[in-house]
Parts: sequence; C-alpha cells; structure tokens
Amino acid sequence: MNILLLGSGGREHALAWKLAASPLVSRLYCAPGNAGIAREAECVALDTADHAAVIAFCKANRIDFVVVGPEAPLVAGIVDDLEAAGVPTFGPARLAAQLEGSKGFTKDLCRESGIPTAAYARFSEAEAAKAYIREQGAPIVVKADGLAAGKGVVVAETVAQAEAAVDMMFAGGLGAAGTEVVVEAFLAGEEVSFFALCDGEHAIALASAQDHKRVGDGDTGPNTGGMGAYSPAPIMTPAMAQRTMDEIVLPTVRAMKARGAPYKGVLFAGLMVTAEGPQLIEYNVRFGDPETQVLMLRLMSDLVPALMAARDGQLKAFDLRWYQEAALAVVMAANGYPGDYTKGTVIGGLDKAAAVEGVEIFHAGTRDEGGRIVANGGRVLNVAALGPSVAEAKARAYEAVDRIDWPGGFCRRDIGWRAVKREPSGA
Ligand code: AMP
Repeated sequence: MNILLLGSGGREHALAWKLAASPLVSRLYCAPGNAGIAREAECVALDTADHAAVIAFCKANRIDFVVVGPEAPLVAGIVDDLEAAGVPTFGPARLAAQLEGSKGFTKDLCRESGIPTAAYARFSEAEAAKAYIREQGAPIVVKADGLAAGKGVVVAETVAQAEAAVDMMFAGGLGAAGTEVVVEAFLAGEEVSFFALCDGEHAIALASAQDHKRVGDGDTGPNTGGMGAYSPAPIMTPAMAQRTMDEIVLPTVRAMKARGAPYKGVLFAGLMVTAEGPQLIEYNVRFGDPETQVLMLRLMSDLVPALMAARDGQLKAFDLRWYQEAALAVVMAANGYPGDYTKGTVIGGLDKAAAVEGVEIFHAGTRDEGGRIVANGGRVLNVAALGPSVAEAKARAYEAVDRIDWPGGFCRRDIGWRAVKREPSGA
C-alpha cells in the first residue's frame, strides 16, 4: 500500500514511525513533515488546506490510504473531499469533527444523551454570559466555542476573571472561535486522556495517558500544548476504562450515528476523574500530542489494519495488543516557549541520545539545514522511552535528554511525577 500522512508534528512523527514499521506499507509519504519524519517517510511540500492539491497528489502517486493527523483539516472537511474523490481516508468527516470543532455542539450532545459532563450554558452575547457567571459564582470555566489552538479555555478563579474572559472572546480576541462561548461548572479531580478507535458504529478502547500542560516543574507557569506524557495512566483502571466506554464513548458513537454523522476515526476524550466517576471535559477528533508518542511506543499490533478497519466499519471483532511496559515522553521546547521563542538554533547529540535502551526520539518542530538539525518551532523534540515501570521509562528518557546538546532548548525535569509517586518504589 501507498500511504499519505498529513501533518508535521511529534504526533505525526510517532504515527509515521509506526506506519513505516508495517509490512503492508510499500511507500509512505508525509505532507509537510519535518526533519525527523523524513527518516521514516518521503516528505512532500503540500498545503493541507488545499484539498484539491492533496487529491491531485493522491491520484498522481496512487495513494491507497490517507491518515490525517491534525484537527484543522478534519474540521475543514478534508475527509469528505478525499472520500468523494475515491481516496479512502482515516479520520472523521466534517460533521463528525464538530465534536472538536464546536464545544457547544458537544455539550448539547452530552445533555441529550445523558453523558456525564460539567453543567453549562451557551451564549452568543456578553451580557447574558456575565449575568450567568455572576449567578453561578467562581470558580467557573469560560470556553470559546470554536477551534482556538489550545487558547480557548479560561479556568477562572474569580467572577471578575471570568467576565474579563467573556469580554476578550466577544471582542474578537480569539477570532471567529469566540463568536459563541460556553460557560461551565468547574470540575475537581484528576485529568486523564482516553483514546478510542471508532468505525461509525463500534468503538474499541486504545490506551490511556496523562500529559503535563504547564510549562514549569511542579505543574506551574503558563499552559502549553503539552510538555510530556506517559502511558498507562494509573488512575485509568480497567473498571474506570469500562465506565468511560459505557458512559461516554459508546453513547457518543450512538448519538452521532443517530444524527446522521457517524463518527469514524480516533476519539480523544479529555476526562476529569471525579468522585462520581469520569466526566467529559472535551473531545478531540484526532490523536493527542504528545500522548500519541507514548501510545505508539506501547502498541504491539500493526497500526495500518486498525486504521483501515475504523474507516471500513469493521471494528466489531477487532483486537489490538499492547506492550505491558510503560512509556514516557519528555518534550524539549525552544527557550522562551510558550511565549516568543528563538528559532534556528542547532541541535546536536541526537544519535547518541537515541542509542539509550528503549528510547525513540520523535521530532516535533525541526528542519534539516545542510545536514544539521535546527529548531523550527516552539515544541521541538519528544524524547520517548519504554521501560518496565514509569520510573524506569523516565530514567531512560532523561538519560537521553542529557545526551542532547542544545543550549537553545529546555524541558521539564519531572514528567510522570504523579505516576512515579504511585509506583511501589516511588513515594
Ligand atoms: P480543554 O481545551 O477543554 O481541554 O480545556 C483545557 C484545560 O482546561 C483542561 O485540560 C482542563 O485542565 C481545564 N478545564 C477545562 N474545563 C474544565 C472544567 N469544567 N473544570 C476544570 N477544569 C477544566
């Protein structure tokens, strides 16, 4: 098979690494890719927003299957366009991608289907939203309805902060994403990322993971796209995973089918595990980043048949096998991230780092400049490792990090702390 993967981040490098390992794949292309992905796939300079150009590439290169990494092309309907042109594609169609594209859509679906989620109200103008906030009190959460590249959520500790967030969103601070907002109750608990593969009718659980959103050690400082992740998440016991499937994922799949928008693809549920059980914080309609980097390390089965079965509606009797080991990934970011960061600094020592047992290095934002790898983004590298425990995976990942010679970058030193503390040798 010839496969085209769309995207350019650490998630796509991990997917490319796993796809390239499949005996079913003869040629793997990635658009646009990055310097690390170039080791697994042939990178092609395609603009993924130009659906006609992507279709033309697929025809010219006899692509049998397309895998879409990021959410923006999904929400823009690239799956609909590729499928209409006869190119089988993994990922949800435009209407199904609303589960990420519109928070209000998802909240209404939860309410109608009895899916546990925070109490909420939707608003299309500021005064009514602020009145609701004053009535509810703080802490309270304000969310832009549409895609806002991770910047659309304000967890407000005071009523004033929540009102300021409403004003910012309706004043156009997040562009079109903020023309409608959702205001919802604050949920207390532990966050976890849960992934399921869906074929429009059936779903199978993948694995769970936890990430670290804050930039600083001890979960301090501003939010980022994710500074590290590990899998499995100890809080996601088999019983909790079963509840998540029964109470959240499967009712969603049924509701989407009933609406004529069957959900095919990977469904990434951001959950809060509360005293009452798992509650849905949000859906993403694609693999997580950096969670995918640890999931792919733990996946024993071939990824290609699984993605094809999801697209073909054939997941009913499907089974995936996982390594029992834990995986952990440390994100290395350019100095200054998540604020203004430096670009173009040279990264050395990558081969020495990759030689550490159990380690894989996935590139998130790199460029090849005449044989030298240079930073080309905020999040730049994912140093990932498998190990018999989270603590050992962590030790391997940081041993590799310490072999990387990159004065222009930094990382957190405490990825996995929650899980390590829970392990028998932790505490
Ligand atoms: P989201 O983009 O919806 O995942 O929100 C970003 C982050 O805000 C989440 O990862 C949570 O840490 C936090 N958050 C969102 N909604 C809530 C909520 N209802 N209660 C508490 N924290 C929340």
